[in-house]
Amino acid sequence: MQGVGFRPFVWRLAREYGVAGWVKNDAEGVLIHAEGGDHTRFLEALRRDAPPISAIDAIEPCETEAKGAEAFNIVLSQTGQAATRVAPDLATCPDCLEEVTSPGRRQGYAFTNCTNCGPRLSIVVSVPYDRQATTMRGFEMCPACRAEYDDPADRRFHAQPIACPDCGPRLSRSVEDVAQELRAGSIVAIKGIGGYHLVLDATNVHAIDRLRVRKKRPTKPLALMASSPRMVEAHCKVSPDERALLQDPAAPVLLLPRRQDCDLPDRLAPGLDLLGWMLPMTPLHHLLMHAVGKPVVMTSGNLSGRPQATTAERAEADLAGIADSFLHHDRPIARRLDDSVAQLAAGGLRVHRRARGYAPAPVHLPGAFAKAPPVLAFGAHLKSTFCLGDGQQALMSHHLGDLDDPDTVAEYERALDDYRVLFDHDPELAVCDLHPDYRSTRLAEASGLPLMRVAHHHAHMAAAMAENGWKPDDGPVAGIVLDGLGLGPDGELLGGELLLGGYAQAETIARLKPVALPGGEAAQREPWRNLFAQLHAAGLEARAAPFIPGKPLDQVSAMIDGGFNAPLCSSAGRLFDAVAAALGLAPEKLSFEGEAAMRLEAVARRGSCDAGEGYPFAIETGGALRVIDPAPMWVALLSDLENGTSHAEIARRFHVGLADVFCDEARRAGAAGVALSGGCFHNATLLEAAISGLSGDRVLSHSTVPAGDGGIALGQIAIAAARTLDVFSSPA
Ligand code: ZN
Ligand code: ZN
Ligand code: FE
Repeated sequence: MQGVGFRPFVWRLAREYGVAGWVKNDAEGVLIHAEGGDHTRFLEALRRDAPPISAIDAIEPCETEAKGAEAFNIVLSQTGQAATRVAPDLATCPDCLEEVTSPGRRQGYAFTNCTNCGPRLSIVVSVPYDRQATTMRGFEMCPACRAEYDDPADRRFHAQPIACPDCGPRLSRSVEDVAQELRAGSIVAIKGIGGYHLVLDATNVHAIDRLRVRKKRPTKPLALMASSPRMVEAHCKVSPDERALLQDPAAPVLLLPRRQDCDLPDRLAPGLDLLGWMLPMTPLHHLLMHAVGKPVVMTSGNLSGRPQATTAERAEADLAGIADSFLHHDRPIARRLDDSVAQLAAGGLRVHRRARGYAPAPVHLPGAFAKAPPVLAFGAHLKSTFCLGDGQQALMSHHLGDLDDPDTVAEYERALDDYRVLFDHDPELAVCDLHPDYRSTRLAEASGLPLMRVAHHHAHMAAAMAENGWKPDDGPVAGIVLDGLGLGPDGELLGGELLLGGYAQAETIARLKPVALPGGEAAQREPWRNLFAQLHAAGLEARAAPFIPGKPLDQVSAMIDGGFNAPLCSSAGRLFDAVAAALGLAPEKLSFEGEAAMRLEAVARRGSCDAGEGYPFAIETGGALRVIDPAPMWVALLSDLENGTSHAEIARRFHVGLADVFCDEARRAGAAGVALSGGCFHNATLLEAAISGLSGDRVLSHSTVPAGDGGIALGQIAIAAARTLDVFSSPA
């Protein structure tokens, strides 16, 4: 991978072991020609000591003719081939941090970086990747930086964003002044690596309240930044693996459970038991955190629903009513990159939002797809991403956001053009969701390419298969797909189903019982409507009133019975909302997607029931599909409420019961593997319950690809590849 200092590393090793020859990038990766010297130890060291961020798939030694080389050289790349990959942005490395905090010419310099760290995707404007192709092109290197840049023995050899206080980007004012304002309770908009953040003292209740009012963001959890892992550990439980992930070069926002004695204000994440933390990802953030000396809120600098600002003009216009002051810098941001969000759950990394630090990283596709044509997948509508596929690999875009907002749509279109140039991708086919009203579908229709439409939940399932390297001939897969809503092949609204099949085809074999969404759109945002509809469907309508005071239930009941503005939908997401509402955990109106379900999970985490002890669901077997009916779950839940069972236990019994019934149905299907996908699997309690319920089976769960709609584009690529090659026909 370019820009990670691999060639200088090889050069230093060659010198150490007296090897002559050369190293260069070619279309396949890195090619090394080695003559003389201590070959064996050179090769050993190559395997053992490679920089941690240069992912080596394989080292393949072979014999070749000696060329009589006398020295070892780095052959610079000159090409603009597809293989010229752009790397993700990398958090400040220990060597650079040492320089920034010690006497020397880069002491206190906010833009220090080297080949092992610094901005990449956020500054690249074209290919091939060199200084002129980045937003650093406006800064001419001083002689001292130039000498480092030209010296193969230097850590900054060909580090394109190399800079120092004499020649590089500058801040608009001093970090100390900003820190002082933050300590005094101000909200400061600070330009970071992929956009502006709104920053404030996380211990200051008044500052938090002002931000929430000004940003019209009453309850959505706010991300935090700490100066060190130790500062995080003062507030949250951090396992050794979580500590390592906090310090990963990707520097994601990591969701961590609050400690009992955490004294940070509850309103950072109302009703939730997790806090999202990141460590500084640039020297600027290190300097700032050192000067502030306590945790800060670091949330994206945008107006509600709009993309994060990336320019001073935009930030000052959009954030004038929110921020008390600004900290700008003059290194332009080539494209907005939100902070990535991750969690360790069920023994593995779960990336909920894949952006800064993770994008762009390809997912390798099974070898059977090698001859598939280049495909462009447009993804879903919410949490949108797109994906470039070429048979060998699928390159997912960074998280772009919800396509309800025109600015986000414009940015999505820009990013499409941008990626196609950066990665030299010339698609022959477009693939999109079945939903005709998704903005991404309309863009795919307007692309002028031949178009393939893929059912939403099949794409979820295929994304989990592709991420896990499932080969088309590995056999049929049972896909448990749980999310809010997606359109099925016959126009039905689905959000809780079991599919059976493979990449090319899959059919629904079981699903949650369809229940009305009274009020249509309103039922997506008002959980009490789902609670009423669920109780109505379970024949428990007469017991609904105490849970839903002050609502026109007779009217809603008539809506459902008359089928007026009450479409049927088998949505797991809405079932979560209904259960949250029954426990009094759901706000009357959600202020962000998943709010009620997240609160329900926070309560469930304190419960203790195990697999097999969850609430019962009934299975109706009369029709073409097996239908999973929550009615017995509601009967048990209401009686638990009546006899005073703790909310923690009730919430957990629901999670476990839902996971168990789907796992039982999946096992019954007798497939070779079970895929878990859909936005509900961002819920760690549900994911853990499902994985433990499937012990012994091959489970395909998501890791670096989001389980939710952010992963849809990958599934679309895999399905399109399979269908164009027809490598796999429908099972049985
Ligand atoms: Zn560095
Ligand atoms: Zn310089
Ligand atoms: Fe979905």
